[in-house]
Amino acid sequence: MESLKNATVIVTGASSGIGKATALAVARRGANVVVADLDDSGAGAVVEQIEALGVQALAIHSDVGDDNAFSVLRDETLTEFGRVDVVMNNAGVLTRGLPEEIPVAEWERVLNINLMSVVRSNAVFLPILLEQGSGHLVNTASFAGLYSYAYDRTPYAASKAAIVQLSEALVLYLRPRGIGVTVLCPGPVETNIMASIRTFGQETATRGPGAQFGIKQPEEVGELVAEAIVANTFMLPTDNQVVDVLVDRARDWDGFITKSIAAWADTPIRPVPQSGASL
Ligand code: NAD
Repeated sequence: MESLKNATVIVTGASSGIGKATALAVARRGANVVVADLDDSGAGAVVEQIEALGVQALAIHSDVGDDNAFSVLRDETLTEFGRVDVVMNNAGVLTRGLPEEIPVAEWERVLNINLMSVVRSNAVFLPILLEQGSGHLVNTASFAGLYSYAYDRTPYAASKAAIVQLSEALVLYLRPRGIGVTVLCPGPVETNIMASIRTFGQETATRGPGAQFGIKQPEEVGELVAEAIVANTFMLPTDNQVVDVLVDRARDWDGFITKSIAAWADTPIRPVPQSGASL
């Protein structure tokens, strides 16, 4: 899209963190924004901030895990703004535990919220974007979907890897039809995601994606996303140093795994939050 001015942008998970920052970044560029989230008071506060920028915003209570969430989003957005230009599938949840300790039901919950939400979103919004021959999709994945730096978040990593592949196939199809796709792959970003994490079983040694990656602020990421929509960029990591990791792995995948396993020997076991560990 050449410009976000007067565009209608839907962002899921927009009450907090990366979604909120992106909602504000596109609003600063003149877009009207649908703020979709489970958290109504957070959404209301974001709407006030967006309206203060001189554009329109609409809060919609939305659980992306629900079957009909996206048809509600479509209908309410079309009623309010008459069009849809950008859909950012951003809401996501994180679960932690050893592979044998994460219940199957938790796998299903995480895949439903993180991955199947994108599938349901596409089923509702692709026909509209294809019909108008313009628009843009942003899917939030993660460094965890690009390479495995930890073994205690398998459902999350699998959901994010699937989002990367789904997005790559979509861009092959959609770009020639006038529709852009961006897959946002954040490294560490200071948001509220750890507040909603579920933990199963014993404490695990946990690792981040690498010491070279500093913690970004969500505002910085929101700006990157807004720029990527206008520039029609597909792959959007929050730190380009991730490319070195991927090249290293591609050159010698088994060697990369051997090095990763060796690094675990030095990883201390850190306390992890136990709250919210229920099903
Ligand atoms: P956050 O917790 O600050 O924001 C997530 C928002 O999503 C919250 O407002 C929450 O209420 C909402 N949400 C959760 N479940 C929902 C549901 N079922 N339906 C609708 N809304 C729901 O976290 P964040 O870090 O901004 O996370 C946004 C995305 O970024 C997620 O997909 C996450 O996996 C991804 N991500 C974050 C990081 C990081 O370091 N923060 C790294 C990689 C990827």
